Amino acid sequence: SIFVLGSFVVSCSAKVERFPRPGESLAADIVTIEPGGKGLNLAVASRRLGAEVDGLLAVGDDIAAAFAAPALAKAGLPATMLVALPGKTGSGVGFTDAQGETCLAVDAGVNRALSAAHVRDRAEAIAGCAIVMAQFEIGDEPIREAFTLARRAGIPTLLNPSPFRPIPPELLADTHILVVNQTEAQGLAADILPDASEPAEPSRFVAELGPALLTRGPRLVVLTLGAAGAVAVTAEGAIGQAAFPVEAIDALGAGDAFAAALGVALSRGSDTAAALRQAAAAGAVATRRTGVFEALGTQADIDQLLGQ
Ligand code: ADP
Repeated sequence: SIFVLGSFVVSCSAKVERFPRPGESLAADIVTIEPGGKGLNLAVASRRLGAEVDGLLAVGDDIAAAFAAPALAKAGLPATMLVALPGKTGSGVGFTDAQGETCLAVDAGVNRALSAAHVRDRAEAIAGCAIVMAQFEIGDEPIREAFTLARRAGIPTLLNPSPFRPIPPELLADTHILVVNQTEAQGLAADILPDASEPAEPSRFVAELGPALLTRGPRLVVLTLGAAGAVAVTAEGAIGQAAFPVEAIDALGAGDAFAAALGVALSRGSDTAAALRQAAAAGAVATRRTGVFEALGTQADIDQLLGQ
């Protein structure tokens, strides 16, 4: 199974012709309220691909927490993934414009209260899974605990440091697969290669930041480039992955879909190049529909895009 350690966030997103200006109030084409958060997205995305999924997501003690159990049940995820903590459930507000550009603000709420002790309560599930995936809408402490447990059990780990903050060296050392977008690559470079210019430009990334990261723990580092695809760096060299041409209407969730599909494919024994193709197809599929939860593709959607 896939073990997802992450966030639960109820997000409210408005599809608008253009982003509102400061002080302006716009009519939206549609406003969608749906459960999400990068943790839930990774879990749902993995489940849609047919993987067995377990994990740990925190909800608060407010009305927004009520979105969680039905969302998990609908997605075929086990209710045991949820831990209820005192406080506010994570919530977010976002916009998507006619070009498919997005902007988003998130209040992490009790996602930040997930602790190493909560992770230790799930140690058995972690020790028995095929891969542990995490992102940064939760604190460092539970991720470090989960990745330490994974290391001891010989289980691979995937980290998507989003939203970006510097990755503690010990956590980076326990990360096998690191997936970053261009914003996160710039943040990482500012932290470990402060003199690099344009570190997220693909050829620079392949020459500088990618290899620098490989010396600090990860054995596979992937930079996602939106509609320009992705590039991966391993000890054997670099692999480019073109984006699949789709009519993109909403890029929200593409990065989560990409990371989940990459982890699922690798856990199924795919080689890096094949896993990247799966991931890019999953990212492309996720841009074809509005919202995140409803937009994540099935393995059949991905196979269709891959012409299989
Ligand atoms: P994030 O959402 O984290 O910023 P990206 O925007 O880089 O991530 O998207 C992740 C992946 O999804 C890309 O590497 C690409 O494979 C796919 N993707 C994103 N946008 C598009 C698009 N417009 N067309 C096709 N594929 C896309």
